[in-house]
Amino acid sequence: MSPALASATCESVADGASGVRFRNPWPEILQRAQGALLGLAVGDALGGPVEFLTRSEVRARHGELCDMVGGGWLALRAGQVTDDTQMAACIARSIDASGWSPTDVAERFAGWLKSRPLDVGATCRRGIRRYIVHGTVHGSPNPGDAGNGAAMRMAPVAIATLGDDSLLERWSLDQAHITHHHPLSDAACLLVGRLVHRACRGEPLSTLRRIALETVGRFPTMQFEPYRGQSSAYVVDTMQTVLHHLFATTNFETCLIRTVNVGGDADTTGAIAGTIAGAYYGLRAIPRRWMRKLDRTLREELLGLAERLAARSPLARSLGVEP
Ligand code: MN
Ligand code: MN
Repeated sequence: MSPALASATCESVADGASGVRFRNPWPEILQRAQGALLGLAVGDALGGPVEFLTRSEVRARHGELCDMVGGGWLALRAGQVTDDTQMAACIARSIDASGWSPTDVAERFAGWLKSRPLDVGATCRRGIRRYIVHGTVHGSPNPGDAGNGAAMRMAPVAIATLGDDSLLERWSLDQAHITHHHPLSDAACLLVGRLVHRACRGEPLSTLRRIALETVGRFPTMQFEPYRGQSSAYVVDTMQTVLHHLFATTNFETCLIRTVNVGGDADTTGAIAGTIAGAYYGLRAIPRRWMRKLDRTLREELLGLAERLAARSPLARSLGVEP
């Protein structure tokens, strides 16, 4: 840990010039950033076993699913994550190693695809193959690209761009267009990123709701109230499910349980809800019984990555935190 981070763990520090004491915001921002990345993994692992089940099938099989049970169509171990977390981890490792390089992100996606992962979305696979064959990191706009595969892996970019909305926009679209290029996917990515930014700053749910409604204003199809109950991999259904449950619940655990119990693309709705709710409620709000089920090596790696990504963000620089 750098000296700046070590000293930043004090609850308050004195301003030498004025003598005024103010609360050091960094520890709180940091645990929210870690909440976003670990929330993603926890939501993915919680929802994975009920991915592609209907709400009534989830109920028949699990009652109310509220634990890491494993199983499902991918025959997951309890606590095992899927492509959502793995692709986000590729982005996080890339930023940690190289700063921002879409080519390096695509290269890590390619390495991951070649490792024969348990699951890969069709649009993701096509985009990564395009990179492998043609070296292009930017697909052309495509009406078929309105899936949730780019929005699900937003946490690392949101954390590393804290404090700079235009940087968030640029990096978000860069990472998204490696596999998905569609206005609704772009809008969902930017919305997830902006919600994480605001949540990490400790802004209230009412502000997050206003930000979400701005996106709905521009893309009325994203309207999440009244909730239609659709939870497919279409990014509109995915975001409606996430936003409805984010604003209809008051803690991380209930938000995630309600979200994944809708079924459908439950690991991905869980991952995105976990990203935003993890930032909003913070790392401490993630139930220990879920954290413990994650692979220990992955959990420790994600905690470290979130800390280092946050420490290199413009917000950290403006607060005097050294990367
Ligand atoms: Mn998945
Ligand atoms: Mn999924």
